[in-house]
Amino acid sequence: MSVNSRKSRKRARADIDSEDESSAAMAAKEDLKHDDQVWFDDGNVVLVAESIAFCIHRGLLSLHSEVFRGMFTMPPPENEETVAGCPVVRVSDAAQEMRYMLWALYNGRAFRNPRAQVPFKVVAALLRLAHKYQITYLREEALARIKTVYVDDSLDFMTEECPSHPLLTYEEEDAFDVVQLAHLTDTPSLLPAALYLCCETEPFWEPTNIIKSFLSKRDEEPYNLLSQEDVFRCLAARPQLVEARLAVFSYIFSDAGGMQCRASGLCRGALAFIKNRFFEAQSEVPEWPVRIDCLYPRADDVMSDTCYSGQYSFCSSCQTYFKGRDKDIRERIWSDLPSYFGLDIPGWVKH
Ligand SMILES: [Zn+2]
Repeated sequence: MSVNSRKSRKRARADIDSEDESSAAMAAKEDLKHDDQVWFDDGNVVLVAESIAFCIHRGLLSLHSEVFRGMFTMPPPENEETVAGCPVVRVSDAAQEMRYMLWALYNGRAFRNPRAQVPFKVVAALLRLAHKYQITYLREEALARIKTVYVDDSLDFMTEECPSHPLLTYEEEDAFDVVQLAHLTDTPSLLPAALYLCCETEPFWEPTNIIKSFLSKRDEEPYNLLSQEDVFRCLAARPQLVEARLAVFSYIFSDAGGMQCRASGLCRGALAFIKNRFFEAQSEVPEWPVRIDCLYPRADDVMSDTCYSGQYSFCSSCQTYFKGRDKDIRERIWSDLPSYFGLDIPGWVKH
């Protein structure tokens, strides 16, 4: 089923997949493998994804999914295919993803423990298939879990260099999948954080690389999950993010802590030191990719560097002042983030 579920419900059960897919699958019937995990001997329908057969219960799927309910109420076609005496429904989903979804329906606690960290690939599969089969509660739960990392309401996800969360694993390349899921589920509020993280990945370090890679269209490359429009969004945003990163530094350290500073001579010396280091760094041709991490807190890092030099340090008032400036400027960038990607996200936080 290439998955317009409304349409598919009107089609006969044997036609759920395209003609080609269906005949290829029929030819491979002998190669069908009973799934080790989701095969119930007392099941009454066999779902086949790729060459894996899942023996399950019509009633359970109908209870959770309007799409399956529609499928099962269709009259069986002539010469209905059966496996283990049960009617067969062929679907075009990946077997592993279907296994995750069925297991979540049968044994939801394994995936839905509100305190456990779940692998991103599992949550992504649940969201994809719950959306397709209209399993509302599972879709909402998966979406909520994805939003714990790909947030839409605060800077929290950038408090560590590598965003991670106790409820969801994080790999750099997941961001590409999140962009695709945002479009699939019509959840544009996921896009700014996900596109920002895409921009940080290696393919985007050099624009010509991404264009070449994108044109080569190798399916196994995660960035090929991005549409041409999203690739252009990232390419257009990257220079703006570089600029924003420079603006963060200049804003935080534009001046020492003003009236509250109790050690103005020392603090001014420290400020001059870090500004010099910054300008020296900017004038060198970098051997590493130009960084775009404008949302990552920098005041602490820069002040620690200054202390390590052994000669300079800031008074506590200046430290508080710089941290406050750091938060202010990053909040402003966060509220502008959608515009870097040419997006207007309704309800996006304004500072
Ligand atoms: Zn000071």
